[in-house]
Parts: sequence; C-alpha cells; structure tokens
Amino acid sequence: MAVAAHIKETMANASFIRKMFELGAQLKKQHGENNVCDFTLGNPDLEPPALFQKTLVDIVNQKIPLKHGYMANAGFVETRQSVAAFVSSEQGVAFGENNIIMTCGAGGGLNVALKAILNPGDTVLVNVPYFVEYNFYIRNHGGEMVLVKTNDDFDLDIPALEKAIDRRTAAVLINSPNNPTGTVYPENTIRELGRMLERKSAETGRAVYLISDEPYRKIVYDGLTVPPLFSNYKNSIVVNSYSKDLSIPGERLGYIAVHPQADDVRNLLDGMILCNRILGYVNAPALMQRVAARTQGLSVDVDLYKRRRDLLCGNLRNMGYDFVTPGGTFYLFPKAPGGNDVEFVNVLREKLVLVVPGTGFGAPGYFRIVFCVPEEIILRSLPGFEYAINRYRQK
Ligand code: PLP
Repeated sequence: MAVAAHIKETMANASFIRKMFELGAQLKKQHGENNVCDFTLGNPDLEPPALFQKTLVDIVNQKIPLKHGYMANAGFVETRQSVAAFVSSEQGVAFGENNIIMTCGAGGGLNVALKAILNPGDTVLVNVPYFVEYNFYIRNHGGEMVLVKTNDDFDLDIPALEKAIDRRTAAVLINSPNNPTGTVYPENTIRELGRMLERKSAETGRAVYLISDEPYRKIVYDGLTVPPLFSNYKNSIVVNSYSKDLSIPGERLGYIAVHPQADDVRNLLDGMILCNRILGYVNAPALMQRVAARTQGLSVDVDLYKRRRDLLCGNLRNMGYDFVTPGGTFYLFPKAPGGNDVEFVNVLREKLVLVVPGTGFGAPGYFRIVFCVPEEIILRSLPGFEYAINRYRQK
C-alpha cells in the first residue's frame, strides 16, 4: 500500500470538498464559466490595496542585501517589530517583536502552534460549526478534536465549553469573525471565556491555552470590532494572516502573537520557532514580510463586502430564508429550507448555484454561501435561490 492508512482515512474525510470542486469545474465546462454562480470558495476576489501593490513594486526595485534570502526562523526583526506594535494596540497589552513569529498564513501558524503544544492524546476544543481544516491540523500533531456546541445565534456556549475541559485539554480554539457563520464574539463572551479558563486551569492543574484564529479580524461591519483576547486571558495565542484582509491568500503570510505573560512564555515561543523550521516552512515568505513591515493596518475596502452582504441578505430574507446576519467575514450560513442541507444544495445546483452543505462544517441543516464574488453573480443567482426555497414551500 503506497499511501499511509491515516492519510487514506483523511483523504476519505476530505473528499466532500474535492467533490464540490470537481462538480463546480464540470458544471462550468458544461454550461460556461459565466452561467454558474459559484459561492463555494473563500478566495477573495478584490484586488489587494493600491499601497500594498506600490510597496511591493518599490521593494522589488530596491537593492537590499539578501532580499530573498533565508532569515531567522521567526522572521525579519523589522517585520516583527511592526506587527508587535500593531497587535499590542489591538490587544491592549504591550509587547515587542520577540512575541511574534511570522508564519505561512494562518494555516501555517495554527500547525506551528498546535505542534508546539500537543502531546499524544491531548484534546483541542473546537466550536461547531467550524473551519473544516481544524480537524486535520489537530490530527497532524497527534491531538484529538473535541466538538462543542454553540448557542442558537452561534455565540460561544461557555458552560458547554467548561463541561468539556479536563486534564487532556491542551487548548480551546476559537475563530472570530467566524467561518462559516460570520459571527463576531462580543466582548462579554471573551471576558467570560477568560474567567472560565482561569478557573478550569486552576481546577485541573493544567493551563489551557486559548488559541484565537483571526484571519477575518478586519472584515467586520456595522461598526463592530473584534474584542481583544490578551486583556482577558494570559495563556492566549493569536493566529492571524493577511490572506483575507489584503486579498493575498496565495502569498502565504501570517503570524502568531503570544501573550507576554503566558506561562513559560520564552520556551513556548522557542518551541514554535523550532516548529516553523522543522515542519519545513523554515520561514514565512521574505518578500511579503518586507511589504508587511511597511503596511500594518492596511486592508481592502470592507464596504464593498458590506454591500454584497446587504444585497444577499436583503434578498434572501425577503424570500423567506432564515439566518443570522453576519457581523463579519464574507460568509452567510442560512438554515436549509426543508432541513436536509445536502438535498437542498443539490436543488440549488439544478439552477447552477453552488454552495457548501453545513454537514461539512459539522452543522447539518445549514449551508454556507461565500460572498467574495462580484455583485452581478449575486444578482444572477437570486432566481435560483427563489426557485429552491419555493420547491420546499410546495412540499
Ligand atoms: N482559518 C480560517 C477560519 C479560514 O477561513 C482560513 C482560510 O479560509 C484559514 C484559517 C487559513 O488561512 P490562510 O490562508 O491564512 O492559511
């Protein structure tokens, strides 16, 4: 047998995503690219900000020694200084470049953080619905994912999390703004979570890490902000990336920030730096780090996503779809009319509208629409959404 048994098993579990891609590609070939409304992929369509492009060109044209060379595994000092200053102000706790590790996106950062903290058999609590890669990332490093339910509005269910924590719990992994629901956890939820984790860590005698995956932190609407973690819990690790807010997911740049008062903080950071190296990332891409050093705080025009959200939500609400309006991200997670998400997704597909069933995110009965697509695609898809909900009205 050529492929390892656990990878074979993972391939089988991951196959629904592959099937979605294959079906989408097949439909586009059959009906023409422009006739298929594809809402399946979180691949931002907006151009990166002009300042990002200009800074990149400037750097390419400058003479810089070892411009594309290896550097310390944690990343360039000037980049980490710039990120540390920015994240310190976001998090309300001051720290310097030694608490930052530049990574290959949030995906790379999560793998580095999990590899550094997980012992065989350790568990990581994940809130449902969840970003599907979490299970694979946790299992990559010998951990086990434990799923915890959320409230009806997708806010964290703190008592449920508390009940799930025991001596095996290495970390609680949260994601806000959330993929797939668009939920932004409010400040009082984060405060309550911090207090609960302090209490449980003391009770079990094992410090539980709080890992916050935040690639959508800047993509928020209606004046919302994402509350800080560091001022609410010391054993916290923020993982972020520029994939979504700068529209550069293919460039693979992100970072890890560790709370300066986390237990054994220096060892933890050194362990993560080692993991960045031995996982084969070595360091985050050099050119992108040089751009990031000069462009902290920059993002695409979030108002464009807000217009799409409002267009989609307004129309779907009028048709009778039931959902929580997303406070951030470019995802909408409505209930599937009729209750069977896989069946409903197939009905939409008859009208060449492609979405992902909630089952893939651990939440059967829902489906995910990605609205980082042009407004004309949203407009073109509306008759399909209307047709699909009407099919269930007639039943
Ligand atoms: N975490 C979440 C919740 C995501 O939605 C994604 C990408 O879609 C990632 C992590 C991975 O991001 P990156 O491209 O920075 O690795």
